[in-house]
Amino acid sequence: MSSEPSQGSTGDVSAPLSCTFCDCQLTEQLLALQSYPGAEATLPTAIPDHGGLTLCPDCASEVVELITSWHRHGQPPVGDDRSIGEGYRAIASTCSFCTNSCDGPVLGVELYRRIGDELPAYANYTLCENCQPVFGEFLENVRGQTEN
Ligand SMILES: [Zn+2]
Ligand SMILES: [Zn+2]
Repeated sequence: MSSEPSQGSTGDVSAPLSCTFCDCQLTEQLLALQSYPGAEATLPTAIPDHGGLTLCPDCASEVVELITSWHRHGQPPVGDDRSIGEGYRAIASTCSFCTNSCDGPVLGVELYRRIGDELPAYANYTLCENCQPVFGEFLENVRGQTEN
């Protein structure tokens, strides 16, 4: 089996993904989330700067459990005059997690690859200011477990 990394390819978007937390190579079975901070919001530290999380089944199991309890909402409106994160703020009146109204900084979370049937194939969620650090700490814990 060749383990040579493919180098110098032009815009190779189909390159194998690796798990954000444990760095194993991903197969078809993965959980993929994209986070969009709205104005004045920042990404939790466990989430890479580009806002994407791709997780292997081992790392994803607790995350799937958590997100299953979230309340999804419709797709955020896309416009040139605002960021995607602000689009989440426009469509979400309540937090997907605690269901309090979210009028402060929001974190939009897009789910586009799932593992198992508990989650929808595609969904959008928004976290309020209070729940963003909670989600961040949760992810830190999950990542910490994989490093043991
Ligand atoms: Zn993993
Ligand atoms: Zn909340």
